[in-house]
Amino acid sequence: MTRISIDKDVCIGAGQCALTAPDLFTQDDDGYGELLPGTEDGTVGPLAGEAARVCPVQAITVT
Ligand code: SF4
Repeated sequence: MTRISIDKDVCIGAGQCALTAPDLFTQDDDGYGELLPGTEDGTVGPLAGEAARVCPVQAITVT
């Protein structure tokens, strides 16, 4: 099982995660990255890793 998390203290709201993996991420009202409901745990595709890679501040962890 894969776990995705966003460190909200690090996120700068660049939105790259939502652009890269719109099935997993969205942006909250302030523009910060947010996981869509039900995506924290489970089987996620390769886009989760890609989103983590493109995040400019490495706020996304995929384990
Ligand atoms: S790509 Fe990174 S910095 Fe940008 S919204 Fe997503 S988690 Fe935040």
